[in-house]
Formats: sequence, C-alpha cells, structure tokens
Amino acid sequence: MNKEFVPFKNRVWLSSPTMHGEEFEYMKEAYETNWMSTVGKNIDEVERLACEKVGCKYAVALSAGTASLHLAVRLAGVKPGDKVFCSDMTFCATVNPVVYEGGVPVFIDTEYDTWNMDPVALEKAFEIYPEVKVVVVAHLYGVPGKIDEIKKVCDKYGATIIEDAAESLGASYKGQQTGNFGDFNCISFNGNKIITGSSGGMLLTNSKEAAEKVRKWSTQARENAPWYQHEEVGYNYRMSNVIAGVVRGQFPHLEEHIAKKKEIYERYKKGFEGLPVIMNPFDEKNSAPNYWLSCMLIDESAMCKQVRGENEVAYIKEKGKTCPTEILETMMKYNAEGRPIWKPMHMQPIYRMNGFVTREGNGRGKTNAYIQGGALGKDGRPLDVGMDIFQRGLCLPSDNKMTEEEQNIIIEIIRSCFE
Ligand SMILES: *Cc1c(COP(=O)(O)O)cnc(C)c1O
Repeated sequence: MNKEFVPFKNRVWLSSPTMHGEEFEYMKEAYETNWMSTVGKNIDEVERLACEKVGCKYAVALSAGTASLHLAVRLAGVKPGDKVFCSDMTFCATVNPVVYEGGVPVFIDTEYDTWNMDPVALEKAFEIYPEVKVVVVAHLYGVPGKIDEIKKVCDKYGATIIEDAAESLGASYKGQQTGNFGDFNCISFNGNKIITGSSGGMLLTNSKEAAEKVRKWSTQARENAPWYQHEEVGYNYRMSNVIAGVVRGQFPHLEEHIAKKKEIYERYKKGFEGLPVIMNPFDEKNSAPNYWLSCMLIDESAMCKQVRGENEVAYIKEKGKTCPTEILETMMKYNAEGRPIWKPMHMQPIYRMNGFVTREGNGRGKTNAYIQGGALGKDGRPLDVGMDIFQRGLCLPSDNKMTEEEQNIIIEIIRSCFE
C-alpha cells in the first residue's frame, strides 16, 4: 500500500499563465484608443522587444506559433512531395505545417544528452535522402539542442534551418539566444509557454525580404493597388493588438519566469537524490535552458512493466519499481497535473508511413514500438531513443505559481511510487 497524502485543494498545474497586471493596462490602452484590430502600438512594441531579447533583426507578430511555422515552411520553399527532416520527439505543431504545404516529414531520432534532434542521425538521414533541403529543429522543454553539430551538418548539405523555439524563448546556447540560429525561426505565446499572450506567435529572421513576405502573407497577401489585388495565396495570421498587449505586459517578466522555473527544476533535482531517476538533461557547459518544463526519466532498472496501446495504457505494479503512468495517476489523485513526454511523431498513426532515421540509419522496421526497452543499437543502448524516453519519461508539475511547500509534497508523492 502506498503512502497517503492530503489532496491539493487547488489544482497544481503543469504550466499555466502567470499574469502581473501590466498586461491588463496594455489591453485597456488598446481598447481605450480603439486600436482593436491587427495594427497598433502593442504589436510594434512586442516585435521590438522580441528582436531586442533574441538578438535578431526582424520579428513579425502572428496569431500562433503554428502560423509562424507554416509561413517559415513557405519561406523555405517546400513544395508538394518535398521531403523535410523534422525533430521527432516534439509537439505535433513542429511538423504539421510541413504537411500544410504538401511536404513529407522524415523524422530524425532524438539524442539522450538534450532530448533533441540527434546530429548523428541527421547526418545519416542526408546520406539516405541527399535531396533534402529543409530541416525543422525544435528545442524541447526549453533545452537548447546540439546546435553547432546540427548547423554543421546542415551547412555541409546546404539545407535551410527552421528553428522551432516555441518552448525555448529566453534559452541560450554559447551565449546566443535560441530563435536566432536558423534561417526562419518561430516562437509561441500560447497559454502554457514561458510567457504568453493567451495565444500568439512570432516569426524571427535576419532577412528583411523574408520578414516583408511574412507581413504580407499574414494579412491576406494584398498587392499594392487601390483595391484588393492578389497575386499569391494569403492567410489571416496577424496578431491582434489586444493579444499583443498581453505579450507586451509579459515580456519584462521573462527573466523572472525563467528564474522561477529554474528554482523548480533544481528543487526537483535535489528532492529526487537517491532515486533511480535523472532530470531532463542539458549541456551544462554551453547552454542555459529556460527550464520551461521539468521532466524526469526513470532508470530502466526501476521501471515496472508498462504497455501503451494507441489510446490506453496498463502497468503492473512491482515493489520498488514504478512507471510514468503510475506517477501521473498518483499525482492526479492528489490534484497535481503532469504529462507524458511528447509521443514521438514516428509512432503517431498519421505519420507511421513516413521515414524515420536513427543514429544507425533507416529506423523503420528496425525499432520495436511498444516493447519495453525495444531494439538495441550496436552501442548496447536503445536504438529508438524517442520511444525509450517516451516510455520512461514524464513532465512534472512546473507551474510558476506552485509553492515550495506544494512542490515538496509532490516530491514525496513521487518518492512514494518507488516504494
Ligand atoms: C506550443 C508549440 C508550438 C505551437 O505554438 P502555438 O502558439 O500553440 O501554435 C510549436 N512547437 C512546439 C514545440 C510547441 O511546444
């Protein structure tokens, strides 16, 4: 019998919006001056603030991070039938925009050091598909990927990089901010991100021409004429000046949010000492994450049997062992919200026929979905890294408003699952 705890009166969230008051003032200003559309001072200001923070030349405020990824895919010139290399273990919005343009995602497996795209697998992928010209790379949970290695491979093959920094705003690698490494880069102000507008996103670039195209496409692609004149397909993707007011009020608090998230990460790390787990890792020498979500990975030796079907999961409890499902269910019982790791795209029903490349080459048919541990590579480690992290990992409650006391109880709840 596991230990019992008193359930939290108020739900402890995975990551919810943290407001400060200025957001409301800027929204009110939009209302009172009647700039209630997709033009106005809040929009100009958030674009300026994003450039200042990330260090890029141009920012275009859009309705969502997904919209910015879509326009980035268009900028990269993806045409129907073109294969595009994509991060595999990520939110679906990294990948779906490739499909909007008729492109065909080919998934690149994950590495264990930062849980991001494996540059070794990327190089293998270029050997298999040398014609590929575009790579979409995400920084998971606010941890920068192996940017130098990925850039080196992309440069060698002349590929355009789209950086999905939706989760990593404020994170840096060798002193440079994420969102400024690729050709066309995306950030998000979705409600659970490090700062939010309730919704919204941005395309970041150092190319004036690209920024101008995105400005035009996002406002229905009007030509310069006295009437609505159209030479290409446009979208209604511009950010509202009201939403921009929220983002504008949040920007000054970005560093404060990161500091809070870092405290949360470090408290978990300390609290789990002695348990057979690790926290989501990062390159401590070269990178500074934004710690958006704290995650943990259970050692293989401490995993009880857990089997995931398409929509259901079962596990068999064993003394001294646990699994993500047991921990998530136990936290939920006490009103604390966690989440499984993003289920890798190559395991998703919609993408099951797409290419998937591991560090040893073509992974299709060679990795063993749903069998705990899966197939092993030549180095003795699981060949399908994304599947392995999905099987053993989970996201922990990482809300900025969680108190130290609440977090200590969550740590105790998790510790009890290992008994
Ligand atoms: C949130 C997110 C997006 C999409 O951003 P939206 O603003 O929700 O459209 C894209 N990629 C990743 C990795 C994300 O986490």
